[in-house]
Amino acid sequence: MIKFLDLQKINLTHQDEIEKKLSHVFRSGWYLMGQELSAFESSLSQYIGTKHTIGVANGLDALRLILRGYIEMGIMQKGDEILVPSNTYIASILAISDNGLVPVFVEPDINNYNIDIAKIEENITSKTKGILIVHLYGRTVFSDKLKDFAEKYQLKIIEDNAQAIGAEWKGKKTGNLGDAAGFSFYPGKNLGALGDAGAVTTNDENLAKIIRALANYGSDQKYINIYQGLNSRLDEIQAAVLGVKLKYIDEENSTRKKIARKYISKISNPKIILPLFPTDENEHVWHLFVIRVQNREKLQEYLTENGIQTLIHYPIPPHKQKAYKEWNSLSFPISEKIHEEVLSLPISPVMTEEETDKVIEIVNRF
Ligand SMILES: *Cc1c(COP(=O)(O)O)cnc(C)c1O
Repeated sequence: MIKFLDLQKINLTHQDEIEKKLSHVFRSGWYLMGQELSAFESSLSQYIGTKHTIGVANGLDALRLILRGYIEMGIMQKGDEILVPSNTYIASILAISDNGLVPVFVEPDINNYNIDIAKIEENITSKTKGILIVHLYGRTVFSDKLKDFAEKYQLKIIEDNAQAIGAEWKGKKTGNLGDAAGFSFYPGKNLGALGDAGAVTTNDENLAKIIRALANYGSDQKYINIYQGLNSRLDEIQAAVLGVKLKYIDEENSTRKKIARKYISKISNPKIILPLFPTDENEHVWHLFVIRVQNREKLQEYLTENGIQTLIHYPIPPHKQKAYKEWNSLSFPISEKIHEEVLSLPISPVMTEEETDKVIEIVNRF
């Protein structure tokens, strides 16, 4: 069977280095807020190009903490609006609503599944304080126009970079395009930990200080609490593992890119709509290879029968979720179409040529 994502194989690629690190942390007797965390934070800052990185417990917390930081700074307050794509993973929306902010859904561009920047301005009101862009499936979304809107209306640009570590825009890394960015190192992400982990990157020193305190009970000095914070830390074990894997992210992303290129050039089936390869190939790190097809269930069943595992990212748009009853009756036809038709094919840094060829052959026979 061709697995959707062979995590075991991915991590075994770095077995010796990771096991050495695990043993080192285990023997050190120091498990939180130590050298592994500082070292990983510095490496990630250097890789992304930002002045600050704060390791946190997961990707959702990273986004929650950014918005909470802006609330503590007085830049946002409860009831303010944040523009967000209507076809994202639920965590982007949870981060907004959890802070008492209001998500305002903006339809995506059907050609790249990212927020349609041309539809941003019409959604801005006097309450709009930020835009949460999501580099969905690993594809960068950014433009000079977006920067202009943010400047003109004094909006913070927050990047949900959970799926796009290593992607770029005009030579700059995602995570360094807006005012602050949230990363997830959930095991299945391009840079995955051995459990939950996340980070915030920013060039804003004040925001960085506040988030660091917020993530540590709202304390910047032991037993002195300046905010009603939470406990959201990146532990030494995860930081150590991430430090090892970060060294190989470019190599691994480039393997994903090769597979995506092959899929796009060799898959030929009139029933299937393929993703587009961006003109600047650095604008995509292919976290997911997402195709669209009218009778998705049939294709998925056929692929399963032929030994190919697929997943759906994601079957239900956020506004149709039971958790958000108040928005269930809203209509976002492009998002709804996407959520109805998408199917993700296997892609990973450990997929072999033979496996890629087999997927192509079987998909073409459908
Ligand atoms: C994975 C993901 C998150 C959440 O990250 P966790 O580490 O699972 O909390 C947020 N946004 C997007 C787009 C994601 O894919």
